[in-house]
Amino acid sequence: MKYQADNKGFYGEFGGAYIPEMLYPNIEELRQNYIQISESDSFQKEFQSLLTNYVGRPTPLYFAESLSEKYNTKIYLKREDLCHTGAHKVNNTIGQILMAKRLNKKRIIAETGAGQHGVATATVCALMGLECVIYMGSLDIQRQAPNVARMKMLGAEVKAAKSGSKTLKDATNEAIRDWINNPVDTHYIIGSVVGPHPYPDMVARFQSVISAETQAQLLEKENREYPDHVIACVGGGSNAAGLYYHFLENLQVNIIAVEAAGKGINSGASAATSVLGKEGIIHGSKTLLMQTLDGQITEPYSISAGLDYPGVGPMHAHLFRSKRAEFISIPDQEAMDWGLTLSQMEGIIPAIETAHAFAVLDVRKFYPDEVIVFNCSGRGDKDLDTYIDHFKLK
Ligand SMILES: *Cc1c(COP(=O)(O)O)cnc(C)c1O
Repeated sequence: MKYQADNKGFYGEFGGAYIPEMLYPNIEELRQNYIQISESDSFQKEFQSLLTNYVGRPTPLYFAESLSEKYNTKIYLKREDLCHTGAHKVNNTIGQILMAKRLNKKRIIAETGAGQHGVATATVCALMGLECVIYMGSLDIQRQAPNVARMKMLGAEVKAAKSGSKTLKDATNEAIRDWINNPVDTHYIIGSVVGPHPYPDMVARFQSVISAETQAQLLEKENREYPDHVIACVGGGSNAAGLYYHFLENLQVNIIAVEAAGKGINSGASAATSVLGKEGIIHGSKTLLMQTLDGQITEPYSISAGLDYPGVGPMHAHLFRSKRAEFISIPDQEAMDWGLTLSQMEGIIPAIETAHAFAVLDVRKFYPDEVIVFNCSGRGDKDLDTYIDHFKLK
């Protein structure tokens, strides 16, 4: 297995667990137990049942006829936008809350930037009746009022991180501090395939339901279990990891990862980590990271809050470095245009994160008999204000 994590959590040269000593007991407890627990019959039974009855899985693999005709190729959309809470993130939070319960944790903490992961975490805490504390930068609390209200409505406590830039990385620092102080009763739910081992591997396994379903659905629709291309946007990389997972070792499947070029790769305002990033350590993991020459992390920028992350998960750093995946970066403007195009051609209003992936259709050639699967990672309800401003829809 060349593209999966090894038993120390390395994907090639990337990954691992670079953590302060005081976090060691928490991470070690998780590392020793996560595979055994998540592969147990009782876990799988409960996980699958919730994915079916609560999340609404399997999500459809929808053949997009108008798009396919226009681009003269076969285009399918994996409809993660139809999951409960509006995106793929809940697949992971369901998995992790079941893990937390089996580790006898009574309290959940999480960090959130735009609030999507915070909402997905608050949702499963409400479902399971566990105490929930969400750390969020005080600037993000101002910018993302509707998601703050959702979390509160779901019964979570939202704690403001007031240090530094008052955004995601400061919220992450606060969450880590909380976990160090509460090692016995608290589980930390990380929201993407980032962080120290075992998080990237654990989150990828929970999200891999996306490609497992895709295999079965393609077998039915196309008479073969794999497509020619899988395409997904990459923030931290969890929806992409979920779509790629069961195709990673099948070299007949081309993997395309789409990053946010923001205002342009060389504008100083982007999140194009594969182009601009260098090796470094962020949130306990060795990966590609946007940083200055002396190693200070650069503030990322994207019009979509979910892609606005200065690194990528270690799986994706390895896919890039080994050339297993093609990386393409798409500027804000093109992503916004695709939000409108997908709405009007297919009647699907995508999240702005998701819209980035579709822009690949304009920058790369596909052939008529090729089968392409896009991950439609989330719906655009949360982005309506941004679409309204951009397209002057008022
Ligand atoms: C959070 C989010 C993303 C980015 O996160 P990944 O971990 O890279 O998947 C992409 N799309 C949507 C809809 C999101 O909410």
